[in-house]
Amino acid sequence: MLESLSNSLQSALNRLRGKGRLTEADVQEAMREIRLALLAADVNVKVVRDFVNRVRERAVGQDLQKSLTPGQQVVKIVYEELTELMGGAQARIQMASKPPTVVMLVGLQGAGKTTAIAKLGLAFRQHQHRPLLVAADVYRPAAIDQLKVLGKQIDIPVFDQGADANPVDIAKASLAEAERAGADIVLIDTAGRLHIDDQLMEELEGMKAAVQPTEILLVVDAMTGQDAVHVAETFHQRLGVTGVILTKLDGDARGGAALTVRAVTGCPIKYVGLGEKIEPLEPFHPDRLASRILG
Ligand code: GDP
Repeated sequence: MLESLSNSLQSALNRLRGKGRLTEADVQEAMREIRLALLAADVNVKVVRDFVNRVRERAVGQDLQKSLTPGQQVVKIVYEELTELMGGAQARIQMASKPPTVVMLVGLQGAGKTTAIAKLGLAFRQHQHRPLLVAADVYRPAAIDQLKVLGKQIDIPVFDQGADANPVDIAKASLAEAERAGADIVLIDTAGRLHIDDQLMEELEGMKAAVQPTEILLVVDAMTGQDAVHVAETFHQRLGVTGVILTKLDGDARGGAALTVRAVTGCPIKYVGLGEKIEPLEPFHPDRLASRILG
């Protein structure tokens, strides 16, 4: 996961780690390498500049802790700043004060939305919830069947009204079904498109107004780097996204999306997708990813 970024940051920092004293030139060289490593990982230029400046300021003005060598302290600063960049503390999912909690999953086609819904269902069931999956992606041929097959496979009910029904009506009807079936979490699979368009956004806005979701989670593909961040900005402006699910972090994503989406959009990453297999979706922990990157 994020191997290339991890290797280049580790090599920049390893040179400092062993040193008892750091010269200004040592710090400058490390900052140059960190900058290049982040740019190569497709991290937004401004985010890189701010990040390196913060690390440099803290590294130069650091309060010396006797237990750490100066090199170790720089490593610690980079770890803390990486964690902060990705949102600091874990961002948890909000639950409605009165059930059901309604979660809309939105995103472009192919990002992994349908897969994420099934995985999210499993994650909630693991915590003793009773999820209902809702097939409201009426445009992509086979999306409804895909969700029904997944639901059967993991034994979680799926609500659908076929491909001819209106998505907003399906979403509204699913709330009544949740009440009838005793489901306390409704996970709605919405339509995606290959590109963002006005019609898609209007439909999602209509659904938001109709079902007043507790969470709107945007599913983005980590492999698409800064494009994922642009997608997140646009969805957030139109819909007020409450969190991001970053999929395909298991592949050879460079890291740009993981490191930047929060800084650029203000939306926290709440979950990550780590494979095609249907397993409970993993909550995102910024500190754990930071320490994994730094080895
Ligand atoms: P949707 O169009 O957004 O509903 O996307 P799908 O859920 O159908 O996923 C598109 C493709 O991405 C499928 O082949 C999934 O198996 C794959 N996929 C989804 N999530 C992940 C993930 O976290 N890692 C990997 N490697 N593949 C994923």
